[in-house]
Amino acid sequence: MAEFSLDINEDQQTIKDWVHDFAANVIRPAAEEWDEREEFPMPIVQEAANIGVYGWEFLLSAMSDPTGLTLPLFIEELSWGDAGIALAIMGSGLAAAGISGNGTPEQVMEWVPQCYGTADDVKLGAFCVSEPDAGSDVSSLRTRAVYDEAKDEWVLNGTKAWITNGGIADVHVVVAAVDPELKGRGQASFIVPPGTKGLSQGQKYKKHGIKASHTAEVVLDDVRVPGHCLLGGKEKLDAKLARGRDAGRTGEKQPAMATFEATRPSVGAQALGVARAAYEYSLQYAKERVAFGRPIIMNQSIAFKLADMKMEIDAARLLVHRASWMAATGKEFVAGEGSMSKLKAGEVAVWVTEQAIQILGGYGYTREYPVERWHRDSKIFTIFEGTSEIQRLVIARAISGLRIE
Ligand SMILES: Cc1cc2nc3c(=O)[nH]c(=O)nc-3n(C[C@H](O)[C@H](O)[C@H](O)COP(=O)(O)OP(=O)(O)OC[C@H]3O[C@@H](n4cnc5c(N)ncnc54)[C@H](O)[C@@H]3O)c2cc1C
Repeated sequence: MAEFSLDINEDQQTIKDWVHDFAANVIRPAAEEWDEREEFPMPIVQEAANIGVYGWEFLLSAMSDPTGLTLPLFIEELSWGDAGIALAIMGSGLAAAGISGNGTPEQVMEWVPQCYGTADDVKLGAFCVSEPDAGSDVSSLRTRAVYDEAKDEWVLNGTKAWITNGGIADVHVVVAAVDPELKGRGQASFIVPPGTKGLSQGQKYKKHGIKASHTAEVVLDDVRVPGHCLLGGKEKLDAKLARGRDAGRTGEKQPAMATFEATRPSVGAQALGVARAAYEYSLQYAKERVAFGRPIIMNQSIAFKLADMKMEIDAARLLVHRASWMAATGKEFVAGEGSMSKLKAGEVAVWVTEQAIQILGGYGYTREYPVERWHRDSKIFTIFEGTSEIQRLVIARAISGLRIE
């Protein structure tokens, strides 16, 4: 088992440098344009695919690092370039994670590559859980999946909200209620293959930040998918439903909201990239900007701010790397360590980017400088993949052993 180490090994350093070059030379220069256009940056994703930054092969090799650190290092660099474009590149990974987490090995082999396509024919994936009335409360999904035994098909109906790549994806992974009374225990995940009738994009949201990432509603209107598109298979689902009914009879509580613990450090790594971008930029600016005849960094109030920014980012990175290492080495998250990493890094990103605006003063508030964009981008990290409140709930339940409400 890989020991936890703060040393970045040679392979990790090579990947970090490679992605940093791409982030600095391709993503950063394009960031302002795609933020203003508020469109999915297909040409940049295509460039990422051309060099292998976008693709399931790279994802697989990054995930096979036994220390678990390659992935957060990669994600931090990508998001350092721009969080919205980074999410456009990483969004298909949400679908891939949904398939890997629930599918059989055969389903993983069949569908994960289809979420990415090839450099000659780039494809996208989307992971559709949230609904207009069920975001944090994922146990209350209304989207229904009904089995049509005669045709061995599942029929999906409902509306999904805030879906990254929703409607523009080739492969949609949809979580739906098979038995709504069983709440989370009555749900299953389905692949909706490319071109399936009845799936359409609803409204595309206009957002506060990460505007280059496409976020939209997904409408499912009598969507029929073959039986083999049920992730994990029918037998496994039937057993899960039976367990759910037993638990209902004995009054056993739903499990804690910890399903996404292992993937949360990746969101923390995105937040780190944005925070570091703002810190580096404002450090440089503070050395150059002169007020009252001296660089503003010569004032303790500015220098101490920068010292705190650096310290908070480093502290958040330690939590992200610890949780990534724990996930890769199969250590049990006994205190919500995955949630801790995402919570801390997300809140640090919001705080650091706000400090950066303050350091840049009037310039920081304008779109001439990137820090206002980074501040807008950072806010998403306290909201998606579990809000800060939900992360605190997971940690509180883990450390207390109580079902804190
Ligand atoms: C840009 C973007 C991209 C997204 N991408 C995806 C995607 O690809 N796939 C997907 O499925 N979803 C996606 N989401 C949805 C996202 O995960 C949800 O918005 C998020 O989980 C919060 O749910 P909600 O918006 O319904 O808020 P609510 O659950 O309504 O929460 C509102 C407020 O109440 C608080 N709250 C709720 N319950 C509790 C509680 N028990 N204790 C304390 N406080 C509580 C919350 O913390 C929050 O502050 C995305 C969202 C955005 C904005």
